[in-house]
Amino acid sequence: MTGGGACAVCKHQRRKCEPNCELAAYFPANRMDDFRALHLVFGVANLTKLIKANATEAARRRAAETLTWEARWRERDPSEGCYREIAGLRRENAVLRAENAALRRQAFSAFAGARVSNLLPAGNLVYNNGNVAGRGANPNGATMLTGHNDRSLPLSGG
Ligand SMILES: [Zn+2]
Repeated sequence: MTGGGACAVCKHQRRKCEPNCELAAYFPANRMDDFRALHLVFGVANLTKLIKANATEAARRRAAETLTWEARWRERDPSEGCYREIAGLRRENAVLRAENAALRRQAFSAFAGARVSNLLPAGNLVYNNGNVAGRGANPNGATMLTGHNDRSLPLSGG
C-alpha cells in the first residue's frame, strides 16, 4: 500500500499488509471501526471465508457491506442485532402493500365506473339509451355486449 499504510484488517492483526492482501480492497485503513465490529461478530477467518464465497468482485464488495451492516447492528443492539431493523422494515412493507392494494382498488373502481365504455373493444359495444332499439338490445336498458360488429352504434351519435 502507498505510504506504508496497512488495511484495517492487517492493522488490527498487527501484521504487514502484503500487496496480495485479500481484504485490503474492502477494508482500507479508514474503516477500523467497521472492522472492529466485524471482528467481534465474525472473526477474521469467517469474514474472509464469507467474502471469498462470492464469485464476482461486485458480490464480494456487496458481502463486505452487508456483513458490516450486520456487525454494526449487533454492536448497537447486542440482543437483537439487525433483526429489529428487519422486522420493522417487514411491518412497514406490509402496511405499504395494504395501502397500495386499497388505492389500486379505489383507482380501478373509479376508472371502471367512469370509463367502462372506453375499456371495451369499440366495434362490439351496443349502448341502449332508450332511443335505439335493435336486435340484441337489452330489454332492461343496460349496457351490453354482443359479438356482432354490424349491431354496433356510436355512443355519442347525434
Ligand atoms: Zn491487509
